[in-house]
Amino acid sequence: MTSPPLTASSSVIIVGASHAGVACAERLRKLGFEGKITLIDRLSGIPLERPPLSKKFLLAEASVTDESFSLRAEPWYDDNQITLKHGCEVKVITPSTKMITLDDGEHMQWDVLVLATGATPRALSVSNGSSERLMVLRHPEDARTLRHQLHKSQDVMIIGGGYIGLEVAASARKLGKSVTVVEAADRLLARVASEAASSFFHHLHQSHGVAIHTGAQVKSLTDEGQGMTISLGDGRVMTADLVVAGIGVIPETQLADAIGITTGNGILTSNNYQSSHPDIYAIGDVALPDHGYTHGQIRLESVHHAQMSAEIAAATMMAKTPSDYVAENEVPWFWSEQYDLRLQSAGLVPAQHHTIRREGRREGQVSFWSFSDHKLEAIEALGDAQAYMVGRSLLAAGGTISRDIIADPETDLKALLKA
Ligand SMILES: Cc1cc2nc3c(=O)[nH]c(=O)nc-3n(C[C@H](O)[C@H](O)[C@H](O)COP(=O)(O)OP(=O)(O)OC[C@H]3O[C@@H](n4cnc5c(N)ncnc54)[C@H](O)[C@@H]3O)c2cc1C
Repeated sequence: MTSPPLTASSSVIIVGASHAGVACAERLRKLGFEGKITLIDRLSGIPLERPPLSKKFLLAEASVTDESFSLRAEPWYDDNQITLKHGCEVKVITPSTKMITLDDGEHMQWDVLVLATGATPRALSVSNGSSERLMVLRHPEDARTLRHQLHKSQDVMIIGGGYIGLEVAASARKLGKSVTVVEAADRLLARVASEAASSFFHHLHQSHGVAIHTGAQVKSLTDEGQGMTISLGDGRVMTADLVVAGIGVIPETQLADAIGITTGNGILTSNNYQSSHPDIYAIGDVALPDHGYTHGQIRLESVHHAQMSAEIAAATMMAKTPSDYVAENEVPWFWSEQYDLRLQSAGLVPAQHHTIRREGRREGQVSFWSFSDHKLEAIEALGDAQAYMVGRSLLAAGGTISRDIIADPETDLKALLKA
């Protein structure tokens, strides 16, 4: 079902003022929307970028101000006539009257509502799993507390070897801490990376002195006052001053659930990010698009997806054709920074994959090209921007490239783009 296009007297309320919400507000203005835009976030302060929270923000000196990490400079909101209500939580949506209710009891009217509520860290389901020495990392306040705790700690344990856990591990090593990573799966980054890239990161962290235990299940955590005791399923017992759990996130679907919008592992949406209610959109980490550029129902957690989903939703609200604004052959991409190395990846690594490793032109550059049968599905490039650009372009063109060509060290990657 389609909703009527926005007019100059329409009001758009966006719940969640992070990467997706702010990008949606920005795109609506760029597309000429002259009505009211209100961005609401339960966090206080000017919205900050999330990726630095496990990297530069965590390592920043106390003298570095939050402003250097703002998603948009403070005047941007007024300049674009976007009302930012921060420190307010949306508690209730009333679809019949098109109202929302905030935690202070205020009611606000909307014509279109955008849920950009993101996700919340999954809690460790272990006995005694609560202590100020046990932390998660999602929001700026978490990162501020973690930065403070890191300075007081020497032995740091990371539970979960996903990107956030590994980035925190690298930052903690940069601060000279002793770091242990415990991962339940049999390899690091098992959910998101190729086996070859997992193995690369395993060795990278080991070479920086990180102790890694894969296939290791945490059974219990106890705060002994002086530190934490961590018991593993196989009977091993470890200690740490600080434990950071990075074991995935749960999409914040509660507002949608309460009004009967269809949800699963996220808020189900069309490819245009419209939920099962035609005037309510869901974008960013909370959205589970039906069959977008992921070619399947996949919930993506990345800045690129936050941006793309916001742009597609805004174009739809303005009755524009999203493909006029967003390239139809766009592929998902992601980056990570660990130590002084930058990963750039594009595409999605399929469960069954065959990966080819290519050394780059300069020392230390390497890329992993993952194929399903004979189709290129993903590229993961470490410090090799050229391989990434070529891989991403090949993926956008459909991924039809022979494995042998990629495997041949003599292949001039740049020439493939001209072919
Ligand atoms: C530490 C860290 C490092 C990352 N690094 C990278 C990286 O290197 N590269 C990359 O591509 N991605 C990275 N990501 C992922 C990326 O940041 C997320 O994909 C992105 O933030 C998703 O944006 P979002 O707006 O959908 O959700 P979020 O950023 O989760 O924001 C949702 C917002 O909604 C607010 N909210 C929720 N419910 C309500 C309510 N009821 N009322 C009011 N407000 C509400 C929350 O307070 C929050 O501010 C990282 C994430 C983290 C946490």
